Amino acid sequence: MRVTPEGLAVGAIGLCALALPLPFLGMTNYYVHLGMVIAIYSILLLGLDIVVGYTGEVSLGHAALFGIGAYTAGVLLFQLKLGLWFALPAAMAVTALFGLLLALPALKVTGPYLAMVTLAFGTIVQILINEMTPLTNGPMGIKLNRPLLLGYLPKDREYYFLVLLFLGLSILVVNRILRSGYGRAFQALRDAPIASDCMGVSVWLYKVYAFVISAAMAGLAGTLFAYSEQYISPNTYSFELTILFLLAVTMGGRKSRLGVILGASIVVLLPNYLADIELVRLIAALIGMGALMVAGIQWHKAGPRALAPIAVPLILCLSAWPITLSLASVTDYKLTIFGLMILFVVFYLPEGLIGRIREILAPLTPAAPDIARPPAQMFTAEGPRGAKGEVVLNASSIKMYFGGLRALDGVSLSVKRGEIHGLIGPNGSGKSTLMNVLSGLYRPTGGEINLGNVRIDGHAPPEIALRGIARTFQNVQLFGEMTATENVLVALNHRLRGNLLDIILATPRYRRSENDARARAFGLLDFVGLGDVADEKARNLPYGKCRLLEIARALALDPQLLLLDEPAAGLSQPDIELLIDIVRRIRDLGVTIVLIEHHMDVVMSMCDTVTVLDFGQVIAEGTPQAVRADPRVIEAYLGVAG
Ligand code: ADP
Ligand code: MG
Repeated sequence: MRVTPEGLAVGAIGLCALALPLPFLGMTNYYVHLGMVIAIYSILLLGLDIVVGYTGEVSLGHAALFGIGAYTAGVLLFQLKLGLWFALPAAMAVTALFGLLLALPALKVTGPYLAMVTLAFGTIVQILINEMTPLTNGPMGIKLNRPLLLGYLPKDREYYFLVLLFLGLSILVVNRILRSGYGRAFQALRDAPIASDCMGVSVWLYKVYAFVISAAMAGLAGTLFAYSEQYISPNTYSFELTILFLLAVTMGGRKSRLGVILGASIVVLLPNYLADIELVRLIAALIGMGALMVAGIQWHKAGPRALAPIAVPLILCLSAWPITLSLASVTDYKLTIFGLMILFVVFYLPEGLIGRIREILAPLTPAAPDIARPPAQMFTAEGPRGAKGEVVLNASSIKMYFGGLRALDGVSLSVKRGEIHGLIGPNGSGKSTLMNVLSGLYRPTGGEINLGNVRIDGHAPPEIALRGIARTFQNVQLFGEMTATENVLVALNHRLRGNLLDIILATPRYRRSENDARARAFGLLDFVGLGDVADEKARNLPYGKCRLLEIARALALDPQLLLLDEPAAGLSQPDIELLIDIVRRIRDLGVTIVLIEHHMDVVMSMCDTVTVLDFGQVIAEGTPQAVRADPRVIEAYLGVAG
């Protein structure tokens, strides 16, 4: 059996089920409470993982969202006497709104800048909770009584079951979302945002979805937390908690439900263990011995030189025990210890604990064929098709200036349906720039572009993609962490039917469209000859196959017009011949092609019409033979008048 994400999720649910009888097996109330906190944090982290693990953004605002969830529940009870069952959906709705607010900066900035903005958000929320005393009872906090469940007051243990039930449900829901088109979009926009936009999957839209779903989960967790603690106060939802959440996701392992639960367990249990100095000393001694063993093995295998790269963690691990001996208590150093742990994970466990476990298990669990795989559907191009020979794309007087540089200076291009239209010119003549303008990545400084009779200049890339212009990139831009099939599926997003609710409930109409999309994806892979690497991650594919995968992905949009930017660059001769065959077959299916190419023989043998650019201007246009004989073209290419 292979360790698949689904398998791990089932494992996680199994763990929950296993945890069910624990409260009855002589667990003290204290441990029941810890279990409850772990489960509640896990629910929040499932959501945080969508943002951090899948879309690859950092959010330092999730403690605040957690707090907003808790306070929504608190205020509803305190002010309006509305209990848990009302608070749950209300808190999720309120935090979802705040998630939307948090997503807005994420559309403008990423990385450390976004981290700063989310941090500011967290601080503001904490201050507001403190200051808005009439609503939130200020620093005094709010006391909540547990609601009646089926007519009687639940004790800690019974409430623990309720929390576990919500955790199980959350895992199920998050799993379904992440396996759907949404999950694929989240990963795609992380791996290659530009390609994602050009495949009709709007980075903008899906970042908003990720933040909103993530925030709603934080709201659910917040409400459950408020009722579990039966008391809320502003100080709980601090910066420290945010760091703890991030630590849990990175340490447990991103993109994993089980990893998230593991991470939550560590960050909840660790501070408790830190309180016991004897235990800390014992663990520090064990860490020291482990480090000595690793050092010894390395020395034995590769000599003293092998120790140099691991010197820093080695010294840290070895000094842990003497340091703990000199301290009476380490609770004050909690944040330092967490900080060191983050560093350790970042350097030595980039995939988190779960990633390490998967690595260890991988040889024991040989890959099994995917039995859910639907048969490939023979690829035929769909979508609106007009008469052969009519103008499908008309660009007139396109100007694209970068500061003083005129990359395109009044270029007009008219492409006829059913043709392969070559675009050639020396390096830097503006070919790629023209493609970027046509696909909406650049907004032209001047000019007009019409696809059929729709004006498309100024529209966003996803919109242009869905209207019928698909493209590949001069520098291959695949979704590296995703399989070949998933890469194609991202561009098939437009064929999926059903909304988020359909996905969560796995309604037949969604399942049918997902199945159809898969069948079509396999058909597309077969069409370009990649059927046998369907389950391979894109980043592991050889260069030639990457190029073909990009073409299959672009075709998945059912385009009227396919833009290929130097598809043969870097390919070997047999691969080039394969490519020529594929491009011809695409044309025969009725898809119009604009082909940028350096290999003259490819251009001459395939193109119906050729346009030549030089210094951002069209210097010749016509049949390949006519263009080749044109003195201006010869001059541009050879630097001498023919
Ligand atoms: P090619 O015909 O080789 O594909 P390009 O279209 O990539 O040429 O580039 C044309 C000119 O435009 C080059 O001088 C390039 O440096 C410039 N250029 C392209 N994109 C940008 C950009 N985003 N910012 C500034 N200059 C650019
Ligand atoms: Mg180029």
